Amino acid sequence: MEKQCISSLSLEELGGVVREMGQPAFRAKQIFHWLHQKQVTAFSQMTDQPKALLARLEETWFIAAPQIRRRQQSKDGTVKYLFQLADGNCIETVVMRYHYGNTVCVSTQVGCRMGCRFCASTQAGRVRNLMAGEIAAEVYAAQRDIGERISHIVLMGIGEPLDNYEEVLRFLHLISHPEGANIGMRNISLSTCGLVPMIDRLAQEKLQLTLSISLHAPNNALRSSMMPVNDAYPVEQLIAACRRYQTTTGRRISFEYSMVRGVNDSEAIARQLAGLIRGMGAHVNLIPINPVDGSPYSASDAENVRRFQQKLEELGVNATVRRRLGSDISAACGQLRREDARAGE
Ligand code: SAH
Repeated sequence: MEKQCISSLSLEELGGVVREMGQPAFRAKQIFHWLHQKQVTAFSQMTDQPKALLARLEETWFIAAPQIRRRQQSKDGTVKYLFQLADGNCIETVVMRYHYGNTVCVSTQVGCRMGCRFCASTQAGRVRNLMAGEIAAEVYAAQRDIGERISHIVLMGIGEPLDNYEEVLRFLHLISHPEGANIGMRNISLSTCGLVPMIDRLAQEKLQLTLSISLHAPNNALRSSMMPVNDAYPVEQLIAACRRYQTTTGRRISFEYSMVRGVNDSEAIARQLAGLIRGMGAHVNLIPINPVDGSPYSASDAENVRRFQQKLEELGVNATVRRRLGSDISAACGQLRREDARAGE
């Protein structure tokens, strides 16, 4: 039988495992601490546990602990990892240094099947979903490597988080658990390309996280030309879901808007965008699009981005320009890719 990922279990589930082995209940909490607070990578490091118990656990379970296949550091301090998972698949994870703390950008799938035309992560398709424990292990491995606490998490790496709903939700509960890493939901942002039914489902969880929507265009013709997902869930439906989300959760949404020269950066488009989301109290994050091999798009110049921002502000929409961290090591938005373990170093 293939081993299962113990890092993905909730405290309650771990309790069940421990009970079935005829062990006292307190062991579950101790093991959870080892996994998610001390973040060990091997059962042998759980020094207060009976050897016999550890040996039995090891027969059935493994601890998610990716290996660092490559580590690149940007001039701005951003670090990008190529992590190899237990099955040989490789994903990328990024650590950004902000004044308010260290932020990890985690991947949620090996590859992506959403097909956005400007994004490198989707170019080779999707191989599989990540398990909750594997996503948490990205955070732990990065934290271990930099030797500093991670305080914030963005689910903005490779993959579409809402296309891996169950495991992503499980991850959110694990990583925010007071007996674990204890990273508060308010310090977590989840970004989606706009899977409407899943946005509605997430709303019902009433989490305190920040939901970011990758909007990139205010009308269907334009958005569909950039993002195939728009054919399934067009702009009106997406915005309606965002409004429902805000009403249900009481949390404001933020929109990501990658700016492409001559495509979605005109004053007319800024007006259309403002008309679409005005009154929602939402925040727009403008990102000059990052270069990606095989993509037909180039970035709007700084002056244009500034004008677009000003126009939005003038029309009552709050907008900021996102700093472009790590672009010298291809660690910026849309530049992450999965890698085949066999592809070599
Ligand atoms: N699948 C999710 C999570 C990815 S987050 C989503 O689509 O939201 C990555 C963010 O970077 C998304 O907003 C995505 O649209 C954006 N992005 C992708 N490629 C980009 C590029 N080349 N330049 C700038 N932003 C890009």
